[in-house]
Amino acid sequence: MTDFKLLIGGELVEGDLTLDVVNPATEAVFATVARASEKQAHQAVAAAKAAFPGWAATPLADRQAAVAKLADRIAENAEELARILTSEQGKPLPEAMGELAWTEGYLRHYATLGPSSHVIQDDDAFRIEVRREPLGVVAGIVPWNFPLLVACWKIGPAVIAGNTIVIKTSPTTPATTLKIGEYCRDIFPAGVVNIITDNNELGPLLTGHPDVAKVSFTGSTETGKKIASNGANTLKRLTLELGGNDAAIVLDDVNIPAAAAGVFGAATLNAGQVCLAVKRAYVHDSIYDEMCDALADLARQAVVDDGLKQGTTIGPLQNRMQFEKVKGFLEDAKAAGKVIAGGNIPDREGYFIEPTIVRDVKSSDRIVAEEQFGPILPVIRYSDIDAVLAEVNGTDYGLGGSVWSGNVERAVEVATRIESGSVWVNQHINIGPHIPMSGYKSSGVGIEQAQEGLDEFTQMRVINIARQPV
Ligand code: NAD
Repeated sequence: MTDFKLLIGGELVEGDLTLDVVNPATEAVFATVARASEKQAHQAVAAAKAAFPGWAATPLADRQAAVAKLADRIAENAEELARILTSEQGKPLPEAMGELAWTEGYLRHYATLGPSSHVIQDDDAFRIEVRREPLGVVAGIVPWNFPLLVACWKIGPAVIAGNTIVIKTSPTTPATTLKIGEYCRDIFPAGVVNIITDNNELGPLLTGHPDVAKVSFTGSTETGKKIASNGANTLKRLTLELGGNDAAIVLDDVNIPAAAAGVFGAATLNAGQVCLAVKRAYVHDSIYDEMCDALADLARQAVVDDGLKQGTTIGPLQNRMQFEKVKGFLEDAKAAGKVIAGGNIPDREGYFIEPTIVRDVKSSDRIVAEEQFGPILPVIRYSDIDAVLAEVNGTDYGLGGSVWSGNVERAVEVATRIESGSVWVNQHINIGPHIPMSGYKSSGVGIEQAQEGLDEFTQMRVINIARQPV
């Protein structure tokens, strides 16, 4: 008997296999969950396919009511879910509560939307309708940094649009999502929402499956490319939300403590494991030393500990592989620049890395050029805004970016020259269900969130009627 079961065809079932989930703060197994075999993955797709015609024919208001109910159940159980989330993912409990509040809010917003079908001409000669029809079975593939939020970013719009869905969790964070499978079983007709887990081997089966119409993927750019190529044979509809290497550009006229707090918070949320985290800060020469010192002070004040302990502000890295990867970046950072805060691996169980500020680095250093996905912030000195924009834009990524200044207009002028799907002024990672999100270049294909994101879960059909009988 496992602690958390799969949801396939409206039933909570054991897996043909099992998966141990490690608590990254202790390195101990915190739960054993059901893990799907290939046969069970096929069963999940078949259940979703069988449920599709009935669900697509269900009135929008009923589909919206079901999604609102899921939001209710998540809100009612937020504390229990947050403890599971922290135990498997590592983020401090208040951040886990934040992920649950976000998840609830996104679902509630989706419950107010519908596909943007509309009439573009209606006169004596013609009636032309643009209809947004559901696609069929969606495969939702989810990473480990915001496992529940990202799963619901897919479930909500997919089912509102009339599709059915198979969610595949990340192997290291399956538990919270399987837990909400219990609510989905009570709320949705059998097969509309299916949730399976794997040990990193079932993705290709789903993304190449002939009965899957669309893949909604969030994860690394490398995996995104594999998915695009695997789905090519069946010309899958794809939404790929991929990696980022967001820059924060700090102009010379900022209030240093306020800018430092904003940049540091956006660099270390979820121990830096956020697609839209600040991963490099470019600071004007005239305030460089002061800004570095302010960031270093904040890093020293951080409380790095088990996310379940009260007062913790930064938890462990989520899994051993990521821990080893970020340790490699830390070594590179030490060689490339000067570490002025953090830089240590606490001598204890768990995948902990102190928040680290590294100064005197340049854009070509690996710690700046690549997505480190950890609590290390490289700070780069600049004096010429055109040159810094060339460096900021001179990367394959383009997910987010921000400009910080005491003069909003001046900041906006710089911000609009950043080539990324989201650009912020005097803030970073301000996302919401009504705000579309997308990536330039290797940061993604397609749009998530808001009406634009919902419409990506549909097939557009134009009904073009000549009024004249023949
Ligand atoms: P990952 O690409 O390693 O894994 C993501 C998911 O893909 C997992 O469920 C994994 O099992 C599955 N997968 C692995 N190989 C697959 C294959 N060949 N076919 C299909 N599925 C496969 O990513 P991760 O390490 O879990 O997450 C971190 C990355 O995700 C970072 O690069 C981060 O920037 C990115 N991310 C992006 C966003 C966004 O919205 N743009 C949000 C969160 C995370």
